[in-house]
Amino acid sequence: MYDLVVVGGGPGGYAAALYAHNFGLSVALVEKERPGGTCLLRGCIPAKQWLYIAEVYATVKHASDFGVMTSAPEMDWNAALDLKNKTVETLVGGLAGLLEKRKVDVIEGFGRLDGAGKVSVETGDGTRTVEGRAVILATGSHARTIPGYEIDGNRIVTSDHALDWPRRPNRVAIVGGGVIGCEFASLLTDLDSEVHVFEMMDQILPGGDPEASKQLSRQLSRRGVKFYTGVAVGPAKIGSDSVTVPYGDESVEVDVVLVSVGRGPNTDGVGLESTSAVVDRGFVEVDLTTMQTAQEGLYAVGDIVAGTAQLAHVGFAEGIAAVTHIATGKAAPVDYRAIPRVTYTHPEVAEVGLTLEEAQQEGEVEVTKHAFNGVGRAIIIGQNQGFVKTIAMKDGPIVGAVVVGPFAGEMIHELMYSVGWEALPAEAAAFIHAHPTLSEAVGETLLSAAGKSLH
Ligand SMILES: Cc1cc2nc3c(=O)[nH]c(=O)nc-3n(C[C@H](O)[C@H](O)[C@H](O)COP(=O)(O)OP(=O)(O)OC[C@H]3O[C@@H](n4cnc5c(N)ncnc54)[C@H](O)[C@@H]3O)c2cc1C
Repeated sequence: MYDLVVVGGGPGGYAAALYAHNFGLSVALVEKERPGGTCLLRGCIPAKQWLYIAEVYATVKHASDFGVMTSAPEMDWNAALDLKNKTVETLVGGLAGLLEKRKVDVIEGFGRLDGAGKVSVETGDGTRTVEGRAVILATGSHARTIPGYEIDGNRIVTSDHALDWPRRPNRVAIVGGGVIGCEFASLLTDLDSEVHVFEMMDQILPGGDPEASKQLSRQLSRRGVKFYTGVAVGPAKIGSDSVTVPYGDESVEVDVVLVSVGRGPNTDGVGLESTSAVVDRGFVEVDLTTMQTAQEGLYAVGDIVAGTAQLAHVGFAEGIAAVTHIATGKAAPVDYRAIPRVTYTHPEVAEVGLTLEEAQQEGEVEVTKHAFNGVGRAIIIGQNQGFVKTIAMKDGPIVGAVVVGPFAGEMIHELMYSVGWEALPAEAAAFIHAHPTLSEAVGETLLSAAGKSLH
């Protein structure tokens, strides 16, 4: 009998398994592949590696803007793919080593809940039952599709396949302009593919800051991406060497369609019906203060949880919260108010806290914006499009922030503290930013928000 059995070795599950050592818990981690999950194997890490490869390519392409003369760059696709695989292997190998060091028993196989405290695991050598005083379910998610877009891995693909394309596709239609769709649009256009993005909602990055979405759309359009917002696509027509994507009375012909319409929870067949956990459209309901389901001793974390963001760092935080409750009996809830949400496009889009619309529902708000166009460091690196925006309650604390621009995903973190600590604009503005940095744009925004603008 283990203190803890974790089913699923992605960010939610492996964070729980690793963190348990702080309390001296014995842990078994049941994983049907290799620990790492979507994030390490076919999500965050490989996608960001491809984005960086595309950035290097685009930087070389535009080197003459800086007086650096080169011949036009060429892609060695196999070398780039090898690099992506090497990065994944480095991190997956590091995780395996860490799990071993923390004495986590990794059991390879498909896990299924079998009543309270029991998990039956289909391993290569048959089925075995693993028992735990507590069980955390962390089985993650899979790419969804829509009717008329059956995934064949060739002409109609998901991000799983796109990360392993054996060569650069010339013409790509992306169905779904959310975070994953936009990241692929950004990297593909930088690698000189023709890209069409279809989004049913009125803006790309639906639900996010409309001005940020507009800014990203403008910059990607300038680099050749064609956006079709408020547009529903008809069923794809697969030809012998192309695919046609119909919309309205028109259509586009491409080599491949990447479907990125969201991710569904992996909760089919994991035995939830053998417990009293409540499941809503596949997502598991939990008490968000402890991550415990309606079944005592059964917890859920990560992408399968109902109502929380499908992000790796949310999974980490939920894993930690669940383990803390299991070990101490005390609730240490995740602070969902200040979780950064980053889209790693070029330029990056990062948000934290309430959106403007959400803040307006709480009362009167004050929005302050500062553009990157006059920021020294942004001009130096030739990336001075975009802005920093803070959203504060009138005469009250900063409740949300948006950054669109270079390294926005790094810069958002100081605004995370402002939101998390409910800082007043004047309190946050009291600190001095180094010059010349991109972060000065945050400092300038805070000064303006405090009613004392500088530049
Ligand atoms: C292309 C892409 C890019 C992304 N980029 C980012 C990003 O930049 N930042 C970010 O925060 N998030 C990103 N995400 C989302 C992120 O990957 C997920 O939020 C995160 O991986 C969820 O963690 P998880 O532990 O809940 O599930 P997963 O990572 O999906 O892991 C679940 C694990 O459980 C295993 N499993 C499933 N069922 C069973 C079973 N019955 N028995 C045993 N094992 C099982 C699976 O094999 C898997 O290893 C991205 C996702 C994609 C697809």
